[in-house]
Amino acid sequence: MRVPLIAGNWKMNTTVAEALDLVRAMKDELEKVTDVETAICPPFVSLAPVKELLAGSTIKLGAQNLFFAEKGAYTGEISSLMVADLCEYVIIGHSERRQYFNETGDIVNKKVTAALQAGLKPILCIGESLEENEAGSTEEVLAEQLSLSLAAVVDLNGLTVAYEPVWAIGTGKPATGEQANGTISFIRQSIAEAYGEKAAQEIRILYGGSVNSANAAEFMQQPEIDGALVGGASLKANEFISIVNQTSLIKHRK
Ligand code: PEP
Repeated sequence: MRVPLIAGNWKMNTTVAEALDLVRAMKDELEKVTDVETAICPPFVSLAPVKELLAGSTIKLGAQNLFFAEKGAYTGEISSLMVADLCEYVIIGHSERRQYFNETGDIVNKKVTAALQAGLKPILCIGESLEENEAGSTEEVLAEQLSLSLAAVVDLNGLTVAYEPVWAIGTGKPATGEQANGTISFIRQSIAEAYGEKAAQEIRILYGGSVNSANAAEFMQQPEIDGALVGGASLKANEFISIVNQTSLIKHRK
């Protein structure tokens, strides 16, 4: 059985002091849940102090990005080796990076490859825009994003995919549980075609896009959805704790 993962993408929010306060506000409650993996992805500058605060904790740490070169003259960038020193997870190919920082499929592929080589667990984000959705090309777009992102990747061990329809991110307009489940089922099928049924059954595929404590249950009840990548609601301790608790209850049918 796939262990559910709830990951919080804090985006460009929280100073170091605020990040530490937020971790303190959720740490004890999250640690009570042992059958759901939880990860938080604060901004780069908070990773080291948050790692220290999380020493010995079950809560995993993730970065929101990395650069694909190991080191060198890339002013302002952070490499996979630097991230791997501090984190277990790294978000790659988030739609905001694709949109605002011109990340192409090729760049995403290089980042996924660098992350895996460094022993990191990438959370690869894919998702269609509103126009693509309305044009009925969701599956075509996702299949292409998947194959470009994973070009020359032979082993998916450690990889998580997050299906994040761009129209649902930060809009307060999530997909329905059924829609997300159907699309994630398509993603799993595409992975089965490229990597075999075993890899497809083992890989975790999350839903992301306006998940909060009020709608989390709808997503977690779906068999194909293995957790969530949570943006806005991960900045509120009670919201994030509630999403994790609901996931535990539903996925393990207590
Ligand atoms: C995200 O940033 O990955 C995300 C899903 O954001 P939100 O939950 O705010 O829509």
